[in-house]
Amino acid sequence: MDYERILVFGAHPDDELTMAPTMAMLAERGVEVYICIATNGSEGYPRPEWRDDIVGMRADEMAAADGIIGTTERIYIGADDMALTNDKPTFQRFIEVIRRVAPDVVFTHGPHDMHRDHLATHAISVEATWQAGSPVSADLGEPWRTPYLLYYKGVQDRPPDIILDVREYAHVRPLTVATQVTQHTLWGTTTTTEKLHAEAERLRASDEPFTNTFWLAERTSLSYLPPLEL
Ligand SMILES: [Zn+2]
Repeated sequence: MDYERILVFGAHPDDELTMAPTMAMLAERGVEVYICIATNGSEGYPRPEWRDDIVGMRADEMAAADGIIGTTERIYIGADDMALTNDKPTFQRFIEVIRRVAPDVVFTHGPHDMHRDHLATHAISVEATWQAGSPVSADLGEPWRTPYLLYYKGVQDRPPDIILDVREYAHVRPLTVATQVTQHTLWGTTTTTEKLHAEAERLRASDEPFTNTFWLAERTSLSYLPPLEL
């Protein structure tokens, strides 16, 4: 993973934390880590009294997670939660982000999922990664062909192509999840900040394998790429 810049797309604030250990590892090696979140997370309120404040609460939680990961920049597309659509303005915004960041790798959602925003993020980001490389829509920035497109979740029909041992950064996963306080009840009734911090301490002291897994995108979606030799 000899990269200079990576761009990680997520549908909601927190989706990208699946690969938080990988992001933290790369950031520590000097790789610039850009995270682009498609929606504002406005539906992620498990309590009715949080409804009006949830977007701001989640932005604060993201900032806390970024401090742990070492994120270079977090970019918000700002679509309403459960309403991300592959319309022209949204599609062009994705192209703009890819061209500006000019990543060596785009990480995004895979095609197998139930959540509509996850599916939309998958479709838009894959198509935008391809379209960003074409000499069209010059107002959106210099064309950029991203060498690699990987899925970090949302693939259920095949084993991962890359299994990365990130054991030295395993604790980053529970530590960043702990910052997402508004989401703890959605992920499981037993998850608490204290338990997550205890798990982080356990992982920090442990040398057991801890992996992040990735899948190569279908080759037909980026036809300019040479065949990969694995
Ligand atoms: Zn999500």
